Order: sequence, then C-alpha cells, then structure tokens
Amino acid sequence: MDPVVRTVETSPAWTARLPVLYGGLGLALLAVFLAVPSELGRAVFYDALAASGVLAVFAGVLVHRPARPAPWLLLGAGFGAFVAGEITWHVYGFVLEQDPFPSLADLFYLLGYPLVAAGLLLLARHRGAGRDQERAGALDAAIVTVAAFVVSWVFLVDPYAADASLSHVDRALSAAYPLMDVLLLTLLVRLLFVPGRRTPAVLLLAGALALNIVADVAFLALELHGGSPGKWLDAVWLLGYLCVGTAALDPSMAAPPAPGRRREGLTLWRLGALALAVVTAPTVLAVEVISGEIDGIVVIVVGAALLSGLVLLRLVGLVRELEHAGEERQRLYERERAALAEAEAARRLLIEQNDRLRELDRLKDEFVALVSHELRTPLTSITGYLELVLADPALDAEHRRFLEVVERNSGRLLRLVSDLLLVAQIESGKLTLRAGEVDLAAVAAESVEALRPAADARGVELRLEAAPVPPLRGDRARLAQLLDNLVSNAVKFTEPGGHVLVALAQNGEGVRVAVSDDGIGIAPEDQRRLFDRFFRAEGAQERAIGGTGLGLTIARAIAEAHGGELGLTSAVGEGTTFEVSLPLQSAGADAGSADREAQGVI
Ligand code: ADP
Repeated sequence: MDPVVRTVETSPAWTARLPVLYGGLGLALLAVFLAVPSELGRAVFYDALAASGVLAVFAGVLVHRPARPAPWLLLGAGFGAFVAGEITWHVYGFVLEQDPFPSLADLFYLLGYPLVAAGLLLLARHRGAGRDQERAGALDAAIVTVAAFVVSWVFLVDPYAADASLSHVDRALSAAYPLMDVLLLTLLVRLLFVPGRRTPAVLLLAGALALNIVADVAFLALELHGGSPGKWLDAVWLLGYLCVGTAALDPSMAAPPAPGRRREGLTLWRLGALALAVVTAPTVLAVEVISGEIDGIVVIVVGAALLSGLVLLRLVGLVRELEHAGEERQRLYERERAALAEAEAARRLLIEQNDRLRELDRLKDEFVALVSHELRTPLTSITGYLELVLADPALDAEHRRFLEVVERNSGRLLRLVSDLLLVAQIESGKLTLRAGEVDLAAVAAESVEALRPAADARGVELRLEAAPVPPLRGDRARLAQLLDNLVSNAVKFTEPGGHVLVALAQNGEGVRVAVSDDGIGIAPEDQRRLFDRFFRAEGAQERAIGGTGLGLTIARAIAEAHGGELGLTSAVGEGTTFEVSLPLQSAGADAGSADREAQGVI
C-alpha cells in the first residue's frame, strides 16, 4: 500500500481536530493581542504568536508525515526567518532603542522570501497537474507577475530609486521588498491556478500568502507616505502566521497529489485576473498623468508590451485547446457513426435470420401436415377393409387374432397421424372448431367409460363425480379429445392399486373439470416444459410408458381455442391434478349455427 495513503487513513481522530484547535486558539489570542495596551507587551505577544505559527508548521510535518516534507520544511524555515527578523527588529527598537537601516532584521526578512518561494514552487510542482495545464498556469502567473511588477515598480520602487539622498545599498534594499512581494504573488497565483485538488491546507496557505502580501504592500505604502503602521497591520501579519500554522496542521497537507478537473479552461476568476493584468499598464499611466509626475515610463511601456505578448500567448494556447477538443469531438462522432452502422447491419442480419427460421418452421409444419395427410388416407382405407374382413363369420380363430393385432396397430398409427396433423394445424394457427351445444357431463362420462377397460386392466380405480352443469358452446369432438388425453394420461401414469377421479362442476361463469390421480407425479423442472411438443417427463421414459408427448400440447390448444385454460398441480410420488376451465360461451365457438366452422383463438 502507498505509505502516503496509509498515513492519511490511519491518522487518529485527534490529529484531525488540531487545525481547528490551533486556529481557534490563535484567533482568540489575536483578539487579546489587539487588547494589550502597551507597545512592548504587544511586541512580545506578537513575536510569540508568530513563532507559534512556525512551530505549528514543523509540528504538522511531524504529526502528518507527508511523503514529500521538503515544501513544508522550506515554508517553515522561510516563515521562521521572518519571525527572526521581527524579533531582531523588536530588540533594536525596545532594547537597543535604535532604528538602523539596513540591519540584521533586513537580512532575516530577505532570507525568508527565497525560502518561502522555494517551498511554494515545490508545492505547486507536486500537485499533479498535466503539462498543458502546467503551461497555462505558468503563463497566467507570468501575466499577473508582470502586472504586479509594473505597479510595484512605479509606486513602490521608483520613489526610492529616484531618491538621490539614499545610498545604493539602501536603494537596493528598499526595492527588494516590493519585488519579493511580487515574487510571492507570482507563486501564489501559480499555486491557485495550476489545477490540482484545492485541499484546505492549500487554501489556508494561499490565504496566508495573500495576507502577507497585503500587509507588506500596506506597510511600504504607509512608510512612503509618512503614515505609521499600527497594531491593525500587525494583526494582518499575525493572521498570516496563524493561517500557515493551521494549514500545516490540517491532515490534507499530507494528501497525495491528485489532479483536479481535467481541463480548467478560462474560468471567470482567471478571466478577471487576465483582464485586470491587461489594463494595469494603462491604468498606472493614467494615475501618473493625473497626479502630474510621470516616473518609470520605460517600465510601463515594456510592461504593457510584455503583457500584450503574454496574453496573446495564453489566447493562442486556448485556441489550440479548443481545436484539439473539436478534433476529439469529430473523432468521437465518427466512431459513434461507425458503431451505429455496425449495429444497423447486425439488426438487419438478425431480421434476415429470423425470417429464414420462420420460413423453415413453416416448411417443416407443411411437411408434417403433408406426410400425415398422405399417411392417413391409406391408413383409413386399411382400417376400413380390416373391419370388413373381421366382420366375416367364416374367419378362423387364428387369422382373426392376427388381424386384430393389425387392427390395433393401425388404430394407433391413425391416432398418431391425426395428432400430428392437429399439432401442425395448431402451430400454423389454423385449429378450427365445429361449434355446437355440448353437455360436458355426458362427454366426461363417455371418456371415463371408454377408458375403464384400460383402468381395470391396470388395476386402477377410475371414478367420475359430475355435478349438473349447464351446456356450453364448443366443439364436442375436440372437448372429448381433451378429456380423453387427460384421463388416459392419469390412468397410464398411476401404479396398480391407485385412484383416478374425474370431477366436474360449475365454476362461476364456466365449467371446471379436474382430473386427479395419485400416480407417479411430475418433477417441478419438467412441469414447465410439459406442454411443449414431443416433451415427455423423465418418469414416463424411465418406466417405458408409451406415448408421443403430443397429448398435452393438443389438450391445452383445445382448451385455449375455447377461451379456457389448462393448468396442473403435481408432486413427485404423490400424484397430479390437471384442471380445465372452460367458459360457457366460448369466444372461439360460433353461437349462431351449430355446424358452421369457427376459427380457433390460438
Ligand atoms: P404422452 O402421454 O403421449 O407422453 P402427453 O403430452 O400427454 O404425452 O404428456 C407429456 C408427458 O407429461 C408425459 O410423457 C408424462 O411424462 C407427463 N404426464 C402427463 N400426464 C401425467 C400424469 N397424470 N402423471 C404423471 N405424468 C404425466
């Protein structure tokens, strides 16, 4: 695991409270500082509070252990040098009671700037921006720098440079302060404008720098115009120290660098900063013209030219970025179009294949119907002639036995062929019903009687319980076929000694027939496929019970053609109940004429 991440994850809760504790306490002490009446007291208070900010920076590094401590150590050292400068200055003022310039204090101050600058540079570099963004950020920082340089040169440096009463060292030192502040401003802008996660630590640090720059500039301006910097200005500096300390104590100071939003573009903030920079030179010139003394004209002119060039460069960068974005969009668009075309081709292929499959299915049904039809005609003729031969009393016993076997088998063949034909009709949606008035109780009684010999032969008890039901409209032969299929299945799949019950009753607006047995039952996974063509459950195959797997397909189709339905409940080893519900007035049966053919509903 990345050590940086672990540090952040496992830092205990108390360290998360450190910045609030220190910041809160610092603000309270700042208020106390403002209330201290004596100047000496305030000076001591000031130095202590400023030093606490520096100590907090080093404490933050110790507590949060950032993977790259260098920037923070440099910042701590830089602000430490500032504090050393403050203390030295106070010692001059209150102990030695003198005000030398330049002094040791200036040395400390001027040492602090490069240290802070180096820390900021490293911090901005480590924030994980891309190269393009790095360049745009650097350009923005350069533009602000040039603008700030022009202002500080004309208003803060030039007056000293022009003062012939000062020595060269004095002039250089006086010019150094505003220029150092320009440097800090540059780095502050860079820190803020280089995209990266703006953590609380980064924002607090930016605040500290801004406060420092504001206080420095105010101090220089006051000095220049003879004003005296009071305790309020000291408070601004102190607030800066508190911000640095709080920033370093915040756990986010150790957060690994993470890129911010992918493209920062020209935000309103940046646009404002750029606009301000562009109008700086003319504004400075205007202020000078109004005040009547035009100094540093060369700096203003060169600055204006530089600013225009830099802004132009920035705009070129933006235009390039836009062009890149446009090309990228075009590429995406083309890729999307290609994908769409591919999808369309796949869709067409699917439709073609579907059509082919449907056509094949139709051909297969046609084939089955044709073969069945061709088989049925000779079979009908065979059974017809068989009947004639068997009716002959002169037939001897042995030949009669042979011919009865032939009759049984041709009967089975004829039933199979008829079933196949019916299934072909069902599949092509052409099941026709001959509608008439049907007494379902009579149909059920016939079915039970027809299957009684088979039940007796197997030793299965077959019973009918029929409550009186009103006649319903439907195709008698088909309904008989439906019940035959269900009752013959029940008998077939029930072991000797078992029971089959056919129960008939009125059920609201319809009739309900339930065929129950206590036979072998059907497994749940087979129940789902039971009504598929040619499907036979495992139990039937294991026990070698004869059948084709067409009976239930036909039964359900007949029930549905009458506007009814066929369902079942079953448990393996316990038995099965098939239940048919039929409406009295079926949608599929024509109510007008008994013999007219009506189209099935399936
Ligand atoms: P067949 O009876 O010709 O095999 P069916 O379509 O009538 O075809 O039945 C399909 C399958 O459903 C049968 O093979 C059998 O496995 C199962 N089945 C149907 N009725 C019952 C029943 N009453 N008890 C147990 N299994 C049944």
